[in-house]
Amino acid sequence: MNEEKEENIVEIIAPEIKEIEKKSAEELEKERLRMVEKKKIEENLDKWVPKTKIGKLVKEKKIKNIDEILEKYKILEPEIADSLLNLNSDLLAIGQAKGKFGGGKRRVWRQTQKKTAEGNVPTFACLAVVGDENGHVGIGLGKAKETLPARSKAARNAKLNIFKIRRGCGSFDCSCHEMHSIPFKVEGKCGSSEIILIPAPQGTGLAVGDECKKILRLAGIKDIYGKTFGQTRSTINLAKACISALKKTMEIKVAGEKAR
Ligand SMILES: [Zn+2]
Repeated sequence: MNEEKEENIVEIIAPEIKEIEKKSAEELEKERLRMVEKKKIEENLDKWVPKTKIGKLVKEKKIKNIDEILEKYKILEPEIADSLLNLNSDLLAIGQAKGKFGGGKRRVWRQTQKKTAEGNVPTFACLAVVGDENGHVGIGLGKAKETLPARSKAARNAKLNIFKIRRGCGSFDCSCHEMHSIPFKVEGKCGSSEIILIPAPQGTGLAVGDECKKILRLAGIKDIYGKTFGQTRSTINLAKACISALKKTMEIKVAGEKAR
């Protein structure tokens, strides 16, 4: 009797174990891809010949902190961000699948067409987010006739748009002094998409939509409440609203910090 029972249990648990194995395999694959990308970036950095004054200073390792640049200057070469920060990137779903069975499923490529005498000429657009998960984040849009060049353009633009955010613990029912949330409530708007970000206590997680989650995670925020208004289905505008809200964390002076 006991043996039979054990077999039954094994059968019940087996698919779950398989699922876990499958998931971890996917994660391993993602990790591997990330490593490959990092290696590529490192190789690129070795070959990099800086063209701007700040680029040269970064290459000579005279500037070691990206905040020195962000305070006064604009980043004009993506390699500056690569060499000063340990960046991760993600793509936001701005497009939708075409075709039968309803289509309309979220995709990272937005495909548009131009009608010409020769036929339809497609263009692909994509929105990339880069961040160091430690207070720096940026988004960028890229367009090209094929998908991969669009992605690299988007990543490049995102690296040029990197900015610093202020983190803190502004929730009234959490009194720690760790940088797990934002210091106060902020609002952002782009077009008809509006978002309000509210500080949350530890353990809350990111209580916002999936696309904003990607931005906030890469910015290094762990706990937040979000509320959106308006046309939140247009991901580009929602992402821009989220970015403008995060930018506002730096616009307000906080008591106890040195004025900048
Ligand atoms: Zn806290």
